[in-house]
Amino acid sequence: MNKIKCPFCYGDESKLENRVIFQTKDFKVKPALGELVEGYLMVVPNYHVDAFSFCSKKDLEKLRNLIDKLKQIIYKEYGIMPFVYEHGTGSKSNKFPDSVTHAHIHIIPHEIKNEKEMLEYLQMEKIDSFYDISKLKDENYFYYENQKGEMYVKNLYDRKDLRQYFRIQVAKEIGKPDKWQWRDYYFMDLISKTVEKLSHLDKNLD
Ligand SMILES: [Zn+2]
Ligand SMILES: [Zn+2]
Repeated sequence: MNKIKCPFCYGDESKLENRVIFQTKDFKVKPALGELVEGYLMVVPNYHVDAFSFCSKKDLEKLRNLIDKLKQIIYKEYGIMPFVYEHGTGSKSNKFPDSVTHAHIHIIPHEIKNEKEMLEYLQMEKIDSFYDISKLKDENYFYYENQKGEMYVKNLYDRKDLRQYFRIQVAKEIGKPDKWQWRDYYFMDLISKTVEKLSHLDKNLD
């Protein structure tokens, strides 16, 4: 199988785009590959796991804690509450050989303008607890948390075409509809701005 080398396990951290901006004992926080907007962050566990649905409750508690801290930091630094999403890869489905399946959470300082339409289109299901992610263990799924902290999930089965849905949406809304492909558009200028702005803060978030 022609699986791509995991950029999170093997990425060169001396490169700007792989720079660790924040860290805890278990997670690293980096700029996004494909930094559509300044302040866009990714949370990546230090260990290789395909999706956060496979993590123990204890690890999910640590993740929750970190997400909350990052939301506050972004709000303070950029004046906008980010939305949060994950596209998780389950064990039941065919893996996506050309996709990154190292669990990662996207934290994006952007307001989805047509959220209602989007939720309807994706047929997302509201959940009350973050820890309900574990129920999706075997499936490909979306986890979406809006700026108000409301949480939704969607079982994606094998809908590979939907995986980049949120990035496509953001790209459209910021007037760069043809630039959502992170492999082709890293947006190094915005990565550089993000690293510069956030690197003066305390790196350790434990
Ligand atoms: Zn990995
Ligand atoms: Zn992703």
